[in-house]
Amino acid sequence: MNAEIIAVGTELLLGQILNTNAKFLSVELSKLGINVYYQTVVGDNGQRLKDALSLALKRADLLILTGGLGPTTDDLTKETVAKLLDLPLELHQESLTRIQEYFLRMHREMAPNNEKQAYVPKGCRVLPNEYGTAPGCIIEKENKVVIMLPGPPKEMEPMFKNYVYPYLRNKTNDVIYSKVLRVFGIGESALEQKIMDLIDSQTNPTVALYAKQGEVTIRITAKEKDETGAMKLIEPMENEIRRRLGTAVYGIDEESLEEVTCRLLMEKKLTIATAESCTGGLLAEKITRIPGISQCFNMGVITYSNEAKQKILGVSGETLNKYGAVSSQTVIEMARGIQKYSNADIGVAITGIAGPGGGTATKPVGLVYVGISTRKECWYNELHLSGNRERIRELTTMNALDMVRRYLQKLA
Ligand code: AMP
Ligand code: MG
Repeated sequence: MNAEIIAVGTELLLGQILNTNAKFLSVELSKLGINVYYQTVVGDNGQRLKDALSLALKRADLLILTGGLGPTTDDLTKETVAKLLDLPLELHQESLTRIQEYFLRMHREMAPNNEKQAYVPKGCRVLPNEYGTAPGCIIEKENKVVIMLPGPPKEMEPMFKNYVYPYLRNKTNDVIYSKVLRVFGIGESALEQKIMDLIDSQTNPTVALYAKQGEVTIRITAKEKDETGAMKLIEPMENEIRRRLGTAVYGIDEESLEEVTCRLLMEKKLTIATAESCTGGLLAEKITRIPGISQCFNMGVITYSNEAKQKILGVSGETLNKYGAVSSQTVIEMARGIQKYSNADIGVAITGIAGPGGGTATKPVGLVYVGISTRKECWYNELHLSGNRERIRELTTMNALDMVRRYLQKLA
């Protein structure tokens, strides 16, 4: 079944509100295995709505409209749909009673034009509105299904979940189920190279890449009768991708890097401490977002000035003079310093140039060092990041978390 979503409302075209109804409906329809080929937005204008509807009826089996079911004269979705489908509008007594009761409950006077909302196209299935006045409806005509839903998301979403989803579930045989693999440490194009053949050759499940800030996600999507069947299709594909990408896959679905890293720390009962310069505590902030991390997180310091790096972390003046605050030598001394001072199992240190100022030819903006010191060894990564200050700080903390994650995963 192919669907088109038509959002009605001039305020959408003016950019005053975001079309979250289309986003919501697209997600829900994809779960049902219904392909959404078009999302349309049209203003409160009878002629243009009629044109949009005529076009949609030519190219889709299922039309879902949201908005324009209100009581005022610019709300004309129902009238336009009814006219185009040649269905008269009839009073739906039950809806009228509901609307009257709604106003009683709210202690508000019912305006005469609210009665207009109780009229529905003849022969439709009426969907009660539990959170507002406008009922929705489902019309079946000549192998097409047209569904009208109210505009306010607070009314539309429960109406969809309670009435439309079960209705569509009955009509379709398949569900779509997805699993997302989260990857850090390989760029999008390098990743594509590694799994290009899988992306190109597969139809069920399908494999798609999506680049986010600093990371790439791989969505494996299967269409099957039920969730168990879909998972069975996904599993061998997941295994093959994991085989090719190894430790670059850090998590699944909604898991974040900090969640995965902190879970590993907790599982392995290891402690950590941080010393940050250019990220100003962002790494510590991310770590402390995770509930239960107090058993593992000892302390975090922000050592912005050279003096602080020397006094608190014991970085030597000579190192700072010779190599500078942004250097591999300094980051290693910072990591060692915080590990020793806190007596944590792992010390993590960050120093870099987040910009926009402060860069030089040899040390440009985006040059960042992340160092790790355990009780036995130290190592560092030199990062060359691009983007604004905020992005550089964000990517730096992600890289630091990823270095800790990789170290923890290697431990027996
Ligand atoms: P309407 O039914 O067109 O009068 O819409 C009533 C209200 O619902 C609007 O003022 C918006 O706040 C909200 N709304 C309508 N359409 C959408 C949409 N596509 N996405 C999100 N909110 C919407
Ligand atoms: Mg409107």
